[in-house]
Amino acid sequence: MLERAIHQGVEVIRVGLFPGRINTTVVRMPNCTTKMVLSVDVGTLTNAIGVLGLVLVVKLGTKCMFRTGSTLIDCGPPNQWSPVKAYLTSVQTSAQGLAPGGSAVQPVKELLITHHHEDHSGNAARIKRDFPSISIRAPKTSLKLLTEGFEVQMYRRLVWGKPPTVDVHGSFDAILADSASSASVPPPAIRPTIGHDLSIVPVAAPGHCSDMTVMFDPARGHLFSGDLFVTSKPLMMRNDEDVNDEIASLRRVLSLDWNTLFCAHRGFVSDGKKLLQQRLDHFLEMRAKATELNHQGLSHRAIASKLFGKEEALYYLSRGHFSKKHLVEGLLSAPHHPVPPTE
Ligand SMILES: [Zn+2]
Repeated sequence: MLERAIHQGVEVIRVGLFPGRINTTVVRMPNCTTKMVLSVDVGTLTNAIGVLGLVLVVKLGTKCMFRTGSTLIDCGPPNQWSPVKAYLTSVQTSAQGLAPGGSAVQPVKELLITHHHEDHSGNAARIKRDFPSISIRAPKTSLKLLTEGFEVQMYRRLVWGKPPTVDVHGSFDAILADSASSASVPPPAIRPTIGHDLSIVPVAAPGHCSDMTVMFDPARGHLFSGDLFVTSKPLMMRNDEDVNDEIASLRRVLSLDWNTLFCAHRGFVSDGKKLLQQRLDHFLEMRAKATELNHQGLSHRAIASKLFGKEEALYYLSRGHFSKKHLVEGLLSAPHHPVPPTE
């Protein structure tokens, strides 16, 4: 399945096994404002149909890449190589170079990867092989993972496939890689930029993973969030995610001057800045509640159950990799970096 749409000059390329914009996010999304069909409460749905059903539902999921100018941001999961290849073949051939709405499509000259996860970097090796004119760049912090490979648990292989390793053409530094303070975002005049024909600022946004990088286009007010957003009220976390790092990243990214959000799971998100703020507010509110319950002597498991409900099918399918208890433990742990007080 390959769907293409244009929002504010950005082409949203959605790939997946089946059409219908079924979101791949397996958490509840009460504030979803995009045109997703089954995204409202996939957690409850999968509880009802069981773990095998969850595999099927997630298999139905779709994933987005974005083309802005001649730059492609992310390249989809390895089991979606066929539509990704079809898309690139189409845009690299001038005779078919028309996007929806009839605007001319520039050939892709550059691929920027937001982070190493297989659903974002999964076709980089094949693009390098079959489309040698496309230069592939990734955050410096992703290079070792992309070159040497990384653990892909069974449930992720079932959903997205296992990516081949790739030696990309180049790398870039994301700003603020070692700082948690939004106050230290460099002024526009001295921000380093990347992008073939646009000035894109790569901003470090660790939390989801250590190399998570969002792509900020200040001239157009666009933010390509990779997996920083996904949902405004997450109820669980992977055990390799760090919620405190993410809270710092959300503050940093929200301090930047942008107004349009492009999310790798949701595509174009109307009210994206408001929803990203809601994600930050949700974490802060849940941290305050978890701290209070912790002082009352409740176990982490009991706190998770009280705040987020019982573990859902994804917990079992991922063999505990996704868990509500992990989120509570993260919220109660000391941040690696000093986090500014809540405004
Ligand atoms: Zn990811």
